[in-house]
Amino acid sequence: MNTETSEGQGVAEPDEKPWQDVPVEYEPAWRAIFLASREGLNLSAPCPVCGVAALHQWYSLGQPEDVNLSGNRLGGLWEWCRACRSYAHYSAAVPEWWANDLQVNPSRLAHHPTAIEQARREREATRERTNADPAV
Ligand SMILES: [Zn+2]
Repeated sequence: MNTETSEGQGVAEPDEKPWQDVPVEYEPAWRAIFLASREGLNLSAPCPVCGVAALHQWYSLGQPEDVNLSGNRLGGLWEWCRACRSYAHYSAAVPEWWANDLQVNPSRLAHHPTAIEQARREREATRERTNADPAV
C-alpha cells in the first residue's frame, strides 16, 4: 500500500504507520489549532485526532518573486502529527512570524512530510547528543 519508492534512504522505521489525511470530522479543530499557533515547528496543543502533543508545522519558501498582494512570500505548508501520522499540505503565504531554522533538502519534499519529520528528528537527536556533552 505504501510504495514510497522516491523517498531514497533515510531514517525511516519500517514499523511506522503510513501518513493519513486529517479525518474530515477533525478538520475544523485541526485548522483552528494551527491558525492560532505561532509557535513555529513544534506546537504545544494536543493533536485533535489522537490527543498527543505531537503536532508540527513547516513552511517551504517559494521563489523570491512569488509573493501575494500583501507582500508575503508564497510557499508550501505542511502540518502533521508525528504520533498518529495525520497530515495536511497546502500552498500558503508564509507568515511574517515564521522563522525557518530547519533545513530540508528541497528535492526530498513530497506531498507527505516524511523528509521534514526526518530532518526534525535528526536535529533533535543532534541536540540531545550536544546537551549530553557540555564540552561540545
Ligand atoms: Zn495525532
